[in-house]
Amino acid sequence: MKRKKIIAGNWKMNHTIAETSGFINEIKGHVSEISDVDIVLCPTFTSLQTAVNLTRDTIVGVGAQNVHWDRNGAFTGEISLAMLLEIPVDYVILGHSERRQYFGESDETVNKRLKSTLTTLIKPIVCIGEKLGERESGITEKVIARQLNDSLNGITADQMDNVVIAYEPVWAIGTGVTATPDQAQEVHAFIRNLINEKYSANVSENIRIQYGGSVKSSNADDLLSQPDIDGALVGGASLDCSEFVKIIRSAE
Ligand code: PEP
Repeated sequence: MKRKKIIAGNWKMNHTIAETSGFINEIKGHVSEISDVDIVLCPTFTSLQTAVNLTRDTIVGVGAQNVHWDRNGAFTGEISLAMLLEIPVDYVILGHSERRQYFGESDETVNKRLKSTLTTLIKPIVCIGEKLGERESGITEKVIARQLNDSLNGITADQMDNVVIAYEPVWAIGTGVTATPDQAQEVHAFIRNLINEKYSANVSENIRIQYGGSVKSSNADDLLSQPDIDGALVGGASLDCSEFVKIIRSAE
């Protein structure tokens, strides 16, 4: 089965509204001919509306970088699904390692966010990945299995249609160190196999698993040509329009 590749740019806490406008006006001209790749930009909350307005007649989708599981209430600094739906965004990143590292995100809270998100049509990108020490201790598969199982707890096979998984080894995020295509492929195949065991062959063949961790135009071809790598979640390199477009072209 052929899975459509998905290239998403995680802008983290970068790009003002003005910079978002400039980027989107630039990228529009480069992606008008592309139809066989899903392209997603994930700006900060303040730039989401601008991004959605400017990408309306393009194939570029827009995603948020997080969402809370509750409908509303006393959660200072958080944002709700209703707020994202009003914009409206297409995707939301859940459980990014920076949320886990700096903001107390856990598999349990990722699962809560995921369950709520799947009551809407917003597609979640669920991030998992081992730390350097975990890889060096030889427990990568154990960590990945725990993160995947706990994050997907209670999620049905039907709901999995809308889920994207991002494998992001923490040691490769923002460090310039990329997993080799073989290292990444090995974990992607492992994740697909876990999904096969948990759900079915059909769900595992359909689910898209992105790789994230210092993806750039110089390594994108090799990573994206691996059989179980269905796209990329790109941080630093997605801030530069021409670099991001080159990565998208690698996915074509
Ligand atoms: C990310 O933020 O998800 C990421 C992979 O960052 P970078 O590409 O900069 O490593």
